[in-house]
Amino acid sequence: MTAINHPIIGDAKSLLLPPVLPLIDTHTHFDAPVFDGDRMIQAQQAYECGIRHLVLLGYVARHFKRLYVTQQALTQPSVPQSSVPQLTLPELTTQHSLLPHAHIAVGLHPFYIDQHTENHLSQMAQLIEQCRPLAIGEIGLDTFTPAMKQPEMLAKQQYFFKAQLDMAVQHQLPVMLHIRKAHAEVLAILKTHDYDAHLLGGIAHSFSGGEQEAKAFVKLGFKLGVTGQITNPNAKKLRRSICAAVAKYGVNCLVIETDCPDMTPVMCQTSNYTQSALGQHADNEWHGAEGQNRNVPSNLPWVLLTLSELLNVAPADIARQLWQNSTHALQVDWSYPGLN
Ligand SMILES: [Zn+2]
Repeated sequence: MTAINHPIIGDAKSLLLPPVLPLIDTHTHFDAPVFDGDRMIQAQQAYECGIRHLVLLGYVARHFKRLYVTQQALTQPSVPQSSVPQLTLPELTTQHSLLPHAHIAVGLHPFYIDQHTENHLSQMAQLIEQCRPLAIGEIGLDTFTPAMKQPEMLAKQQYFFKAQLDMAVQHQLPVMLHIRKAHAEVLAILKTHDYDAHLLGGIAHSFSGGEQEAKAFVKLGFKLGVTGQITNPNAKKLRRSICAAVAKYGVNCLVIETDCPDMTPVMCQTSNYTQSALGQHADNEWHGAEGQNRNVPSNLPWVLLTLSELLNVAPADIARQLWQNSTHALQVDWSYPGLN
């Protein structure tokens, strides 16, 4: 392994980062309009920082098409070749593409439950038939606000969650779970549903539960998705949960994600502006005009590095393990690119 500094990240940060390692960003909203101005540049930078695959997650039916348009744009970049930097690393020159492969998950997100209709479920079912996605997501339960805890709202969330789990079973697809302040309720549904994560894979994205809950999801066959939140030394509960799951099940229970444009690693934050990009706005768009804390896929190595330190596993070893974990969770056979 050659000690090559990250090509994108500035000097101060590159002193701390490991060499470029192949990574999978298992959860992004890289289709969000906040990336419209520089998506191709960000995709190239992500590639140069090691990101070889990224998953675009659905959340409301009216934006499903945007997932496919973004995937298409990343598959057939319209950037002129002259703008592609000259790359000399053997690992980079042997690749067919200079952009990460983009994959799609479609799902109706519980935070936007008041927007979802029966018709949206039908649209989703039709879409899955026509353009098979990589996964179903993000789906689950969210009782973050008092309004979402109301029995009627929670019942609607449960109905949509179960209906989408049914689709996952029907089409034999992994699910990407969004769970906020509802871990026990999600576990209760999963334990009685036909969906079997040991067979179909699946990820508990941006895991935020306690130690027992972390172990319970892993026991059911899910991987725990770790975001840039882990880079915050004050995220003690999260760190304890991840360490507890790893102590019992090993590093093979984890995957990493940026959840961009949210969850910016602390070392990439340039202001104290903490407005969430997703999960706070009714239309789920990024209104943070300040934008300085917008998370991007190329920040993913910071999650890797923090996990490496937290779990005391060498970056190259944990990167290889996370790759395997991701392909297992997503039920794909993407081979590890390696650095030789
Ligand atoms: Zn998300």
